[in-house]
Amino acid sequence: MASLAVTCSSIALSSSSSRTEQLVQLKVTTFQPLDRSGKRFVAVKALSSESRRNGATVPFAATTFAPDVMEQLAEIEDFEKLAKDLENSSPLEIMDKALEKYGNEIAIAFSGAEDVALIEYAHLTGRPYRVFSLDTGRLNPETYKFFDTVEKHYNIRIEYMFPDSVEVQALVRTKGLFSFYEDGHQECCRVRKVRPLRRALKGLRAWITGQRKDQSPGTRSEVPVVQVDPVFEGLDGGSGSLVKWNPVANVAGNDIWNFLRTMGVPVNSLHAQGYVSIGCEPCTRAVLPGQHEREGRWWWEDAKAKECGLHNGNIKEESVNGNANDNNTLRAEVVSDIFNGDGIVNLTRPGMENLLKMEGRKDPWIVVLYAPWCQFCQAMEASYVELAEKLDGSGMKVGKFRADGDEKAFAQQELQLGSFPTILFFPKHSSRPIKYSSEKRDVDSLMAFVNALR
Ligand code: SF4
Repeated sequence: MASLAVTCSSIALSSSSSRTEQLVQLKVTTFQPLDRSGKRFVAVKALSSESRRNGATVPFAATTFAPDVMEQLAEIEDFEKLAKDLENSSPLEIMDKALEKYGNEIAIAFSGAEDVALIEYAHLTGRPYRVFSLDTGRLNPETYKFFDTVEKHYNIRIEYMFPDSVEVQALVRTKGLFSFYEDGHQECCRVRKVRPLRRALKGLRAWITGQRKDQSPGTRSEVPVVQVDPVFEGLDGGSGSLVKWNPVANVAGNDIWNFLRTMGVPVNSLHAQGYVSIGCEPCTRAVLPGQHEREGRWWWEDAKAKECGLHNGNIKEESVNGNANDNNTLRAEVVSDIFNGDGIVNLTRPGMENLLKMEGRKDPWIVVLYAPWCQFCQAMEASYVELAEKLDGSGMKVGKFRADGDEKAFAQQELQLGSFPTILFFPKHSSRPIKYSSEKRDVDSLMAFVNALR
């Protein structure tokens, strides 16, 4: 990884200091914090910005002795507290803190979209900073041009991470150039994105992402400004060895764009063509006004990969399939249950088995098969609760069945579960459930489905 260590020391401290002051004033009138909700954190070993490798003079085995242990203990840091302390700080302040703390062992993940704001913030701090990006080999020409523009604008070199050529060769020779249209994007993303990202992060102690709370009403509504990375490992290896900074977690998308315009930051020309989320060329398309940005990604997969996979390993990897800094903090251990509306019946396995057996049920049912940690289930929670309210007293029953863990195999075999969430309609006069196949899960779409069948 040493060969990738490119810094931007050419940024003049004096000139950027005055820009920083201007920006601090600017952000007071420009940025509106979003709603903030609680977040679980753990206290882990702090990741010192000073590389222990550089100063290591004792053999590895000696690290079990007192001096190193004491050093580590002294560095214990509570990232929950740090996140709370920084919760009301501006993105610029958070960026400054991150760069100050980790120096050359932190880098910005840049996807070639509006996360260019992170580079502007880093530039404004006046500190050296590093930027990396995943070159999958399948990006739009506009994105490559944009990378070049950004490098020139900030006088930096982006540290591109490339996929392993042998792995790409094996994939393409075996399955062709567009296998993702046939069997889903996971395999290609794993080769072209996830593994290169993992390699990049293994050379760092912290990284900086452009995650925002307003990007998803589900999991991202709890994105903290700093956290122990729940998925990836850093330089020291193992759980807790990498810290993730999200300086724009509390900034709304509109305010990011106001900031970019105000500061004269170059942007990817694809945005002017209707692209919001920007990834690989074959897997990204423009969206219409009002459409969610995720509808422009892997649109052909419908009920497959835009929903949560059923394997924990996939959950972790799914989190970066969007773009380089699109770490979604998906975690199977998010525990609080969802779909808790008054009119929603919590069904157990025997309840589901009864529903399946019933030939002539008195009332039709709609049931969501879900996992509380699934961001797509979380995202449709409000719609489903509203649906239950609308159907209250109509003779239509609304239920939920938690189908992960021990219930997963049953749900896959008996209930057509392929991914979360799966929505089933149990008609009045048939035991065979009908699966809702659209990914539109707003209340009107769900209501139309119900009305068409009951
Ligand atoms: Fe492959 Fe598409 Fe994933 Fe890019 S986004 S790595 S082309 S599947």
